[in-house]
Amino acid sequence: MEYFHSPEYEQIRNGESDNKHTIAVVGSGLAGLTAAYLLSKKHKVTLFERHPSLGMDANSIDVHHEGKIARADVPLRVIYPGYYKTLMKLYSELRIKTEKVSYAVKSRYLIKSESRRIIFDIFRLFRNINLGKNSLENNISIEEYLLRYNYSKPFSEGFLYPTFAAICTCTLDAVKEYPAEVILNYLNQGLLFRGVKRVTNGSKEVVQKLSKNVSKIHFSAKINSINKEGQKLSISEENGKKTFYDHIVLGIPANKVSDILSEEFSSELDILNCFSYENSTVLMHSDKRLAPANRTSWSPVNLISSSRQSTPMATIWMNKVQPILKGTSPIFQTWNPIFEPREGLKISEAKFERPIVDKQAIVNVEKLKKIHLEENRRIWFCGSYAQYAVPLLESACSSAVSISERFGCKLD
Ligand SMILES: Cc1cc2nc3c(=O)[nH]c(=O)nc-3n(C[C@H](O)[C@H](O)[C@H](O)COP(=O)(O)OP(=O)(O)OC[C@H]3O[C@@H](n4cnc5c(N)ncnc54)[C@H](O)[C@@H]3O)c2cc1C
Repeated sequence: MEYFHSPEYEQIRNGESDNKHTIAVVGSGLAGLTAAYLLSKKHKVTLFERHPSLGMDANSIDVHHEGKIARADVPLRVIYPGYYKTLMKLYSELRIKTEKVSYAVKSRYLIKSESRRIIFDIFRLFRNINLGKNSLENNISIEEYLLRYNYSKPFSEGFLYPTFAAICTCTLDAVKEYPAEVILNYLNQGLLFRGVKRVTNGSKEVVQKLSKNVSKIHFSAKINSINKEGQKLSISEENGKKTFYDHIVLGIPANKVSDILSEEFSSELDILNCFSYENSTVLMHSDKRLAPANRTSWSPVNLISSSRQSTPMATIWMNKVQPILKGTSPIFQTWNPIFEPREGLKISEAKFERPIVDKQAIVNVEKLKKIHLEENRRIWFCGSYAQYAVPLLESACSSAVSISERFGCKLD
């Protein structure tokens, strides 16, 4: 199929347009913030966020603990430079420092005698990926792939599925449906051998720097609807206010778009409604019962299974990853807790939704990319769901970068 574009659109697409557009960005997770930051280089940007603070840092807290104050990112997000190429470029432009973090993962899914078999299969997997062996045709799922090429059960059930269920905070069943290509591509950029990093000053610094040049920010925004109004788009808020923009970038989860986008956008909604999500809970607390029973076997990240739920629980021993907490009594961040901490030991609770990547995801992402090429497009979509990849900060950032490039706003 051929696409024909208006001269104005071609200019936007080639980054040549001198027109200063009014652009609303809705959602201030990393995707929305990256779009707002880049678009502000040339255009007038207004940011809408439903939280009273910037979304990427909205659940982070100051932990007051034994005379110290530690800023804890909730959730604690780690990155590894081999995979997070666009994000590292953004952080470097913003002069955001990163540091290595001790992030060894210990899995309760394993028994010791199985470790040798797992290590053998890890090396076999990497060798096969690098030699281009073992076909990934027909969008084969990771479960089909591991079974077809005879990877051991300790490797799949005891290591790969639980590790990815923790990385994606999703159920083991959802991980099994992930396209093998997506998982192998994630693993093959050096994760196991080069270690992981986090931003030294936490996500607070990231959100401050990304939002610095945005013209206006509406916190606690309650958007009723987005409509077409001639050549413009309008945002109507619950308080009766209506504002007009040349373009709107939606940096909100795909499954929330139908809450605010009017039915005039039915073709966009048909695509966005196909992305599926799973819920997760993140607790900050000091209850040791949510860590492995034997303290000598605690790792910075501990994966613990239970027949009570199909999502592994991951307990991060914050004292090991947050230098200021070294030497103080244990503080934890637990993802998907199997049970509640004892009374008085819970510090905070936050709820999240994560996109699920399955065989359908490649079709949805391709459709989204295609509508972004349409003539006179004025509404755009970015977020961790909008790339054919594990839904992490890298996909959120790179989806926003590719939209911003259409407006002539690039990373330096
Ligand atoms: C427990 C957990 C651990 C994770 N660990 C890592 C990790 O180690 N490394 C990594 O790379 N990634 C990690 N992630 C994933 C990463 O956090 C996400 O991929 C990323 O934050 C997604 O960003 P986003 O901008 O696409 O979406 P979101 O962060 O979901 O941002 C969407 C924003 O839109 C706002 N919003 C929604 N609806 C509206 C509305 N109607 N009006 C206005 N605003 C609205 C929301 O409040 C939110 O601020 C983790 C996620 C979780 C839950």
